[in-house]
Amino acid sequence: MAHLKNREEKLKRHRLYYAAHKDKWKAYEKKYREENREKLYEKSKLYQSRHGDKYLGYHEKYRKANKEKIKARNMARYALTTGKIQKSEVCYDCKTKGYTEMHHENYSKPYVVVWLCRRCHRLRE
Ligand SMILES: [Zn+2]
Repeated sequence: MAHLKNREEKLKRHRLYYAAHKDKWKAYEKKYREENREKLYEKSKLYQSRHGDKYLGYHEKYRKANKEKIKARNMARYALTTGKIQKSEVCYDCKTKGYTEMHHENYSKPYVVVWLCRRCHRLRE
């Protein structure tokens, strides 16, 4: 409890300090932003032009991959209920019987799944 109280004291002191110097901090931040406006703007523009396309490309790819992944997973889950896919309780990789998870080798083939134990699934991904 002593430790907790100490922490509270510290936080309280910090808050008091901040409150007392708030205007000073605000003025400082404002001054910094104003003085460096051009620099900050140039910096962000430069970053955009350098990494913009790549950055977008990466996110676009990531989103698409996940969209396919989610779609494949949903299709497979449904196929499981209709019997199109059959669950295996034996891990495809290590042949251990027990809890298995569905794994897609290829998301464009949602009904082609392998069953893996949690450990092997992790190793694959
Ligand atoms: Zn396994």
